Amino acid sequence: MGFYEGIKDAIVLAQKADNADLIKQLLDLGAQALEMQDEIRKLKEENAELKKANDLESRIIMHKENYITLKDDAEEIHYCPNCWGLTHKLIPKTENGCYECERKWLEAHKR
Ligand SMILES: [Zn+2]
Repeated sequence: MGFYEGIKDAIVLAQKADNADLIKQLLDLGAQALEMQDEIRKLKEENAELKKANDLESRIIMHKENYITLKDDAEEIHYCPNCWGLTHKLIPKTENGCYECERKWLEAHKR
C-alpha cells in the first residue's frame, strides 16, 4: 500500500470514529505527501537534465578553430563553443558563430 492510499484509509477510519481533529491532521499529512511527490518529480527531472549535461560534457571536443564536436558523432557536426560555455546547449555553428549568438547580438544592438 502506498503512503497516500494509507492516509486515505486512515481518514475513512477517522471518519468512522467521528474524530474531527484526526481527520484534519490526516488531510494535512495527505497534502504534505502530495507536495513531497511533486518535489520528488521536480528533482528527478533536474537530475535527468544534469546527467544529460554531464554525459555531453565528457564527449565535448574543443577545436582551436573555435568550434566543438562530439566524440563518436559520425556526422561531426560543428557546434558553437560560446553557447556551450554559457548555457550548456549544443547549437550548430554558422559561419559567423551561431543563430543563437547572432540573435543575442542583434538584440543587444537594435535601437
Ligand atoms: Zn552561439
